[in-house]
Amino acid sequence: MSYIVSHIMPERMIELAVSAQPTQIRLGDVLKEAGYVTEEQIQSVFEIQKAAGTKKRLGELLIEHNIITESRVNAALSRRLNIKYVSMRDAPIDLDIVKQIPKAIASKHCLIAIAESHGVLRVNIADPLDYYAIEDVKLITHKAIEIQVCNRAEIMQAISESYAEIETKKAASGANETAITATALGYVDISEAADDTPIVTLLNSTLYKAHTSGASDVHIEPFDDQTQFRIRVDGLIVDYLSLSVSLHNSIVARIKILAGMDIAEKRAPQDGHFRAKLQDIDINVRVSSLPTVFGEKIVMRFMGQGGAMDNSGTFGMERDDYDKMVKILQVPHGVIYLTGPTGSGKTTTLYMIMEMLAKRNVNISTVEDPVERNLARINQTQINPLAGLTFESALRSILRQDPDIILIGETRDAETASIGVRAALTGHLVLSSLHTNDAVSAIVRLIDMGIEDYLLANSLAGVVAQRLVKKVCAFCTDEYAPPENELNLLGSHRPATLVRGKGCHNCNNTGYKGRVAVHEILPIDPKIRGMISSRAPTDNIYKYVREENKMKSLQTSLQKLVVEKKTSIEELLKLTYFVE
Ligand SMILES: [Zn+2]
Repeated sequence: MSYIVSHIMPERMIELAVSAQPTQIRLGDVLKEAGYVTEEQIQSVFEIQKAAGTKKRLGELLIEHNIITESRVNAALSRRLNIKYVSMRDAPIDLDIVKQIPKAIASKHCLIAIAESHGVLRVNIADPLDYYAIEDVKLITHKAIEIQVCNRAEIMQAISESYAEIETKKAASGANETAITATALGYVDISEAADDTPIVTLLNSTLYKAHTSGASDVHIEPFDDQTQFRIRVDGLIVDYLSLSVSLHNSIVARIKILAGMDIAEKRAPQDGHFRAKLQDIDINVRVSSLPTVFGEKIVMRFMGQGGAMDNSGTFGMERDDYDKMVKILQVPHGVIYLTGPTGSGKTTTLYMIMEMLAKRNVNISTVEDPVERNLARINQTQINPLAGLTFESALRSILRQDPDIILIGETRDAETASIGVRAALTGHLVLSSLHTNDAVSAIVRLIDMGIEDYLLANSLAGVVAQRLVKKVCAFCTDEYAPPENELNLLGSHRPATLVRGKGCHNCNNTGYKGRVAVHEILPIDPKIRGMISSRAPTDNIYKYVREENKMKSLQTSLQKLVVEKKTSIEELLKLTYFVE
């Protein structure tokens, strides 16, 4: 343990730091004085509690029964106790401070140490009247405590994230220590590790931390002098840990055992999969290994980890886009393509659409590689080329079963494209994804793949281009006056200020946290059908969709996000780079 206990504070200092004596104050009185609740309401929740035989604090009961909100309780306490009512977002967390309080105590009392100055430890707590909690912290840290009240859910989340990271870093240094001994003895252990070895602890806590911080994958890469752990959060890869390279083989062996891969085979790429329960979360991980000059590189990818998403009730779309999409989905048959580069969230959107379609009481079949998430009431097929099950062969057998709706995970080649189009013409609704930068390019790509123009014109129902845009981290947002060259990118908008992230602990110093999807939705109308079958120049189609079809482009949506201060100008530049 590295938290060093300082000398005991003189009693007088402790008294000074705690600005009220919580034992003498009762929450009921505070809330009554503030005019938020009546004595009758307090008595009524106590009655309910007595009947239920549970034991909860008054605040929790009142909030649970919708008599008062947590923010009102906290605002009242803040005024009465003369302490600050804060959000975990107000200040970055310093892990060296956090770990002065053991996790068990932090979780039990719902509190977290966030800063320290002049020997006074600043602690965010959900219940500032919890005298015993505050006493516990004083006893453990031997420091004067300054408390601030903060919402319970925010503290619990901060506890879970911060301690996961602390444990990982500790496990890494533990593992590095064993590595030194192992190397000294000229011995590297690749046997199946017992469950309490530093390697297992390290892997478990890395997976836990990565999952709780919303990462999509974990990369373990060997170099000549070290093994680097990196995690991808919101599409960005960030360095996470560096370990002694002598540990690399043990780590890889452990992962391969978990994923059912061959630990002796180190020269060929392998794929594997495992599910695990870590503390309170279930994880589903796809593993791939790839030989490199310094050893095997491992990527562990969390399946079904879409992360929290804006507009999740509307396929992640803005209301007007969603309405347009629902209209396209009402066609009895036809092909709908979702397009965008890798990592643009196409699969997530397709899954949301399939879940909605599954409610229609129709027969739905999918062909995917890989099946990322199991969907209720949908027949999902994973292709397996080694066993002869390709997109093409799987589709042919599915069509013999005549489903109403077919999802083709990805249209990669001419054969798949052709089957999709033909299935649509024979009365099926087909959804698929395609690698193109914008909606109109999908038409060009399909013709290039060899689809006959009249077949395409008659089967295409709509194209949706999508991008995921990183949101500026709310914890470290910085406003600035944009220079002229940035304003020029914003069309007719002339905002006085724009935002960017400075980088902080909450966003792994990237300045971004969370993502939002933007779309351009192109329903295929008779005019566009005519242009496809007559092979009109692409420029004419672009001109038409901009001027008459009134399609809102990805660029327009992104400009709006920049002006609304949700994302940075860099994200807009990235799109421009992709499109041109
Ligand atoms: Zn930040």
